[in-house]
Amino acid sequence: MSKYSPFNCFMMERKPEVERRLGRYLPMWELASEVSEEWQAMSNSEKMRYQRLCSQQGDKLDSYGVPLRLREEENQMKKQEARDMQHHIADVVNKYHSSGGLGLLPFYVISGSFYLRMDEGCYVPAEISLLKFSFKTGIIREFHAIVEPFLPVSYRWLAMKHSQATHNLLPKDGADGEKIKQVARSPTQVANRIKNFLSEDYDKCRPLYTLHSEVEQVQQMLHSMTGEDKLKVYSLDILFQHIHSVLIRKIPLHVSTGVITESLWEYHVGIACKWHIDNEQDSVRYCTMSCVKQWVFLMCRHIGMVPAFGVVPEEGKHYPSGRASS
Ligand SMILES: [Zn+2]
Repeated sequence: MSKYSPFNCFMMERKPEVERRLGRYLPMWELASEVSEEWQAMSNSEKMRYQRLCSQQGDKLDSYGVPLRLREEENQMKKQEARDMQHHIADVVNKYHSSGGLGLLPFYVISGSFYLRMDEGCYVPAEISLLKFSFKTGIIREFHAIVEPFLPVSYRWLAMKHSQATHNLLPKDGADGEKIKQVARSPTQVANRIKNFLSEDYDKCRPLYTLHSEVEQVQQMLHSMTGEDKLKVYSLDILFQHIHSVLIRKIPLHVSTGVITESLWEYHVGIACKWHIDNEQDSVRYCTMSCVKQWVFLMCRHIGMVPAFGVVPEEGKHYPSGRASS
């Protein structure tokens, strides 16, 4: 979501009043869903007021009503962030590789699914899985959480369609949703558990890696849950590209993406979270735990643990344990 969109100006204006009414701090996505119906009901001329608020006299606007000047600044910032990410990843991989410590370097891999992507580009988080991983040890620790569905009425149908096509976390028609209520936690609780899991690495701002195409989505969900911009989300595809370059040979980014998203273990039940295994085995390939595990297992398999790091791969740590889906 653009920081400068008319909807954002409207949200910021409404924030103090909504927070006073509910008596607590509201993360952006919750605020967005609180005020989205009010926004949709507004006339175009009322919306124009916010368009003027977020722009200066004489600014040209893009098709979303965001001043081109601000859009350009935003693009420059994104380009700078992408450059910072490239440099950081190259530095870390080269440094650890030349000191012989690449195999022991721990890094975090994250996957986040959502209930809903609202028109304004806000994501309502659904399931978050995180792994701490190093090539020598394999999976060191795992984190898993399901977030309570917090959905504005006007978006429920859309969220239901998305759920049925993917993770199946929302109760189906007629079901009361008790099963999911027992395990789901509030966004604030999930944010606190993530902080605990990362412990000192949270304050050190260690990056979390996810699929290249999902960086923005995960970044946005973490920001909305923690209310902070502390956690950086970086591209796992670029990380693996660099690791592959120093260990074997240079590969282009799309080849790196191809390796970590191969469908070999897509339907492997044993790598999904407990909830998906117990309730929705048909959607295990959309389970975020299944995703993070597949990514790291496929990296191990492709690099080869014995030649690259002199370690014998262990079941459940370097490759899947449990049965394959029938
Ligand atoms: Zn799951």
